[in-house]
Amino acid sequence: MRKKIIAGNWKMNKTVVEAAGLARSIADQAGEISDPLILICPPFTALTEVAMALKDSEIQVGGQNMHAEKSGAFTGEVSAEMLLTSGCSHVILGHSERRALFSETSAVVNAKTIAALVAGLIPVVCVGETLEQREAGTTNQIIEEQVGGSLDSLSEDDMLRTVIAYEPVWAIGTGKTATPDMAEEVHVYIRGLLAEKFSQEIADEVSILYGGSVKPANAPDLFARENIDGALIGGASLTAELFVPIVKTMEKLEV
Ligand code: PEP
Repeated sequence: MRKKIIAGNWKMNKTVVEAAGLARSIADQAGEISDPLILICPPFTALTEVAMALKDSEIQVGGQNMHAEKSGAFTGEVSAEMLLTSGCSHVILGHSERRALFSETSAVVNAKTIAALVAGLIPVVCVGETLEQREAGTTNQIIEEQVGGSLDSLSEDDMLRTVIAYEPVWAIGTGKTATPDMAEEVHVYIRGLLAEKFSQEIADEVSILYGGSVKPANAPDLFARENIDGALIGGASLTAELFVPIVKTMEKLEV
């Protein structure tokens, strides 16, 4: 059974005090939910406080990025061990904002993914096409390059510990969501790539999240699709009132 995951990417939002308050509100409103797994990814500065605020809950904490090296002269960067020791279990890697604004190639994402796995973090590897790429009919090609490049040389065990998030760039923060059919089609394609690269058994075990303007109103139709195992959520993860109903939508589907 694939793990269902609802993850919140808070991006560069929330001070330490605000972040701890939001984490507590989410934990209070969610109650004792262990399926789906709830993952919260605050800014680095708030990781420790958020992890402390959530220590009595099932909710897990993740970083939004990390450097592939263990330590050294990399001003402004953090390592996998720093995330782990700040209370993280997961790390988002290759988010489209990192790829577009910080020039992260799939090779860079691959090095980070391997470093995260070696350190014991679960990578949430993001892939997704731009609007131009979709309109040019190259979505599958882009996804193939990003999946293949970002997951290069992973072992079967590594792959089983890795989560993928399909996030069409044109749907992130725009209010435009991929239709459930569009999202499902790409998720099936990604699973097919994993089956080719690893095996069908492994492909069937990997959680593939959808991201891009997920809201309480569109979550039920997305989550009803067979290959959509949860969501990576930006805007709607910034308030408990929007985030928790999405979690509960997935929880109800599980019953
Ligand atoms: C994201 O940043 O990963 C994301 C999906 O954002 P939003 O939900 O705001 O589109």
